[in-house]
Amino acid sequence: MDRVDCVVVGAGVIGLAVARALAQAGREVIVAEAEAQIGSGTSSRNSEVIHAGIYYPAGSLKARLCVAGRDRLYTYCAERGVAVRRCGKLIVASTAEQAVRLAGIRAGAEANGVRDLVLLDRDRTLELEPALDVAAALMSPSTGIVDSHGFMLSLQGDAEAAGAAIAFCTPLCKGRIERDGVVLEFGGDQPFTLHAAHVINAAGLFAHAVAAAIEGVPRATIPTVAYAKGNYFALAGRCPFSRLIYPLPEPGGLGVHLTLDMAGRARFGPDVEWVDRLDYTVDPSRAEPFYAAIRSYWPGLPDGALYPDYAGIRVKLGGAAAPDFRIDRPCGNRLINLYGFESPGLTASLAVGEEVAALLGR
Ligand SMILES: Cc1cc2nc3c(=O)[nH]c(=O)nc-3n(C[C@H](O)[C@H](O)[C@H](O)COP(=O)(O)OP(=O)(O)OC[C@H]3O[C@@H](n4cnc5c(N)ncnc54)[C@H](O)[C@@H]3O)c2cc1C
Repeated sequence: MDRVDCVVVGAGVIGLAVARALAQAGREVIVAEAEAQIGSGTSSRNSEVIHAGIYYPAGSLKARLCVAGRDRLYTYCAERGVAVRRCGKLIVASTAEQAVRLAGIRAGAEANGVRDLVLLDRDRTLELEPALDVAAALMSPSTGIVDSHGFMLSLQGDAEAAGAAIAFCTPLCKGRIERDGVVLEFGGDQPFTLHAAHVINAAGLFAHAVAAAIEGVPRATIPTVAYAKGNYFALAGRCPFSRLIYPLPEPGGLGVHLTLDMAGRARFGPDVEWVDRLDYTVDPSRAEPFYAAIRSYWPGLPDGALYPDYAGIRVKLGGAAAPDFRIDRPCGNRLINLYGFESPGLTASLAVGEEVAALLGR
C-alpha cells in the first residue's frame, strides 16, 4: 500500500489553506476532493466578506482565528494581487431601542481585539450613506470584501508550488485508524487505498460523516449537525450604498444584510432557513420578508427590485444557533477533524492553516 505523510480531505477554502500551510512547512501533502474542482461547496456560496471579528464570544476559536485570519488575508491579497476591498461596514440600528445595543456590540468587539469600531449618530451615518433611514450606526472600517475564487486559486497555486497534489473526483469513502496513521479507502473511477500518517478532515458540511466513516474514531467525539440554509436575493438596478450594511444580528445569522461583490453588484441575505437536506434552490416567495427587513433601514428599496440569487448552507454543530469552530484530535495527530466551519471560515482560513500546521509540528 502507498504511504503518504498528510492527506487533506476536501478542497474548499479551509482544506486549501491547510494544504498550503503543510506543504510550505515541508510536508508531503495530497488533497482528496470528491468533486471535479476546488471550492465547489460552501466556499463558493458565501458573502465573500472579510469579517472584522466583532460578534464572536471572547476566547472562542471563531474570535481568535477571525481576527488573526483577517489581517493575514488582507496582507496575502495585497501581496498576491487577489482582488480585495476594505470598504467598511455599518451596523445599523433602526430604532432608539436598537441603538442602545450598539455600545454593547462595540464592547464585545473590543474584548476580541477589534478596537476600531466607531459609533455614529444619525446625522453622521446619513452623511456617509444618504439612502439610509436609521437612528444610529456602528462603523467597522476593517471589514471588507474579497474575490473568494481568486483567493482559492492562489491558495491552490501556493500549495502545488510547494509540492502538494490535488486529486479531484476522489471521495474518501472509508478509513481505519492504525497505530501509525490512518488507512484510507477512496472511491471514484479508480478506487485505491492509501496509508496516511496524518489526515486532516476539511470536508465542510460532511466533516462529521467523514469522521463517522473512519473506524476507530470514538463515536462520542463526532458532533451531530443541523443545517441552516441562507438564501440571497440580488438587487436589480443601481445600489445607493458604498459600504456593507448590516442590521443587528439575529439568532443563527447576522440578519438580512447588504453585501457588495468585487464587481459592485449588491445582494441581500443570507436569511436563516433550517433544512434537513442540501438543496440550493432559492424560493422566490422568500423575498417578501426581505423587503420588510431591508426597508427597516432602507425605506427607498423599490418594489420588485429583488430577484432570487443563490444560497449557501451553514453547518450548525449540535443544532446550536451560534456554535464555535472545533479543531478536534480524537486520535492524537493521526486525525484532525475540522468541524463547524461556518462563518467566518473564509476570513479565518489562513489562520486555520497555520494552526493545523503548528499542531502537527515539524
Ligand atoms: C451563507 C453563508 C455565508 C457565509 N459568508 C461568509 C463570509 O462572508 N465571510 C466568511 O469569512 N465566511 C463566510 N461563510 C463561511 C465560509 O463560507 C465557510 O467557513 C468556508 O467556505 C468553509 O470552507 P470548507 O473548506 O470548510 O468547506 P467547503 O467549501 O464546503 O469544502 C469542503 C469540501 O470537501 C469536499 N468533500 C466533502 N466530503 C468529501 C469526501 N468524503 N471526500 C472528499 N472530499 C469531500 C466537498 O466536495 C468540498 O469541496 C459563509 C457561509 C455560508 C453558508
